Amino acid sequence: MKKSGYIFLAAIVMIAGILLVNTLMLTSKQVAPDELEPLQIPDAVIRNLSGAVTFPTISYNEDATPDSTAFFGFHRFLKATFPLLHEKLSLEKINDYSLLYTWKGSDASKKPIILMSHQDVVPVDQPTLTKWEAGPFEGKITDDLIIGRGTMDDKSSLMAIMESVEMLLAENFTPSRTIYLAFGHDEEVGGSKGAAGIAAHLKDKGVHAAMTLDEGGFLSENMVPGIDNTVAMVNLAEKGFASFRLIVETNGGHSSRPPRENTIGMLAQAIVDLEENQLPYKLVSPIDYQFEYMGAELPFTDKIKYANPWLFKNSLLQSINAHTTTAATIIEGGVKNNVIPTVAEATVNFRILPGETIESVKTHIQNTISDKIRVETVGFLTNPSPVSGIDSEAFMVLEKTIRSVFPEAVVVPGLVGGGTDARYFYDISDDVYRFYPLRINAESYTRFHGIDEKISRENYKEIITFTYHLIKRYP
Ligand SMILES: [Zn+2]
Repeated sequence: MKKSGYIFLAAIVMIAGILLVNTLMLTSKQVAPDELEPLQIPDAVIRNLSGAVTFPTISYNEDATPDSTAFFGFHRFLKATFPLLHEKLSLEKINDYSLLYTWKGSDASKKPIILMSHQDVVPVDQPTLTKWEAGPFEGKITDDLIIGRGTMDDKSSLMAIMESVEMLLAENFTPSRTIYLAFGHDEEVGGSKGAAGIAAHLKDKGVHAAMTLDEGGFLSENMVPGIDNTVAMVNLAEKGFASFRLIVETNGGHSSRPPRENTIGMLAQAIVDLEENQLPYKLVSPIDYQFEYMGAELPFTDKIKYANPWLFKNSLLQSINAHTTTAATIIEGGVKNNVIPTVAEATVNFRILPGETIESVKTHIQNTISDKIRVETVGFLTNPSPVSGIDSEAFMVLEKTIRSVFPEAVVVPGLVGGGTDARYFYDISDDVYRFYPLRINAESYTRFHGIDEKISRENYKEIITFTYHLIKRYP
């Protein structure tokens, strides 16, 4: 063999060695579960969730006034359903509709924790009504299900928190730290009055929490290829959200004498330019944690990839959309089939990866498309959230509680693409996590904001069990 052949062979052996060593060194990050006392949860909780669903606390859009009959009715319902909680905890209403309960802890030197959910739900698309197994606000209970808007998003976690506090109060439990229950009323339209108002109010009071917990992470079943176990996705951060309007203005003209640059053609070209010049995939935090925690649970052949992102990261990052995504969502222009319009506009929505900003996305757009096109932001905008850590006491308590209540599940920290109310709480909380043990799979996932939203009785009781133990175990 020639000398170059030996060098080539040596390189292959070396790379294989690195791949192997890295793979062997990627070991499970899962903590050992604790043995828990079985918890008896009465069936009344099922009727209570059904009752909560009957209040159509719908958020239509940012400017619409909330339906006070529905929201105040829901508040009265909570008061009647959880008498101990309303006796022992103090309640403040923020911006009329949002609820902030304070459960005073016995040790004022400890930082509080904040448990969040939201009261509002999305509307039901009228033409899809016939596809529901029961009326979306009927609160129907079957042998194994509770059906209706809010059973997944997000009254199940709100009611589970209330139920677990009520149960703990009945046991005369007092938390060592103060616990806030923060229930916004406009999460589905950005949370600018609800969660943002609650966070501002707590900040004014000088509150700084150890942990905030909100929706946005689940027990996902068979959704991660290669992992047979249930995955408890604890999301440490969320992507940013920004839409940009691309505006083309020309002199227009008659379609029989088209100019070289047609208004609509220019706009179409800009969209194609953006689609063809996507923002890069990046292995940023918390995706690095996600790879480590998830990779360690995979069979050897898949594990090699996660253990060696230096070689395989592109395909892994692509599989989870780990970049700032580009999606054209609205296009408008033209009035008549023989007139070249003077104006054409498109809206392009971006979900921004941590590390990038609304401003950096705008620069990317301007550098990518023709400078004859005007670019302006439109509608709701938010930068990516900060990324919470996995070394804090809060994460350890959360992780241990999840593993103890669901020993078959593996905990995986990650990044969520959609927005939650939690993003307003980074300012007043050391760490912010998104997780409640709602079980989702590829099929039930489509029911979020969709048709036939429902939860199993058993899963609802699991959420209560989880919040009960989380509160009780938090030192
Ligand atoms: Zn929600």
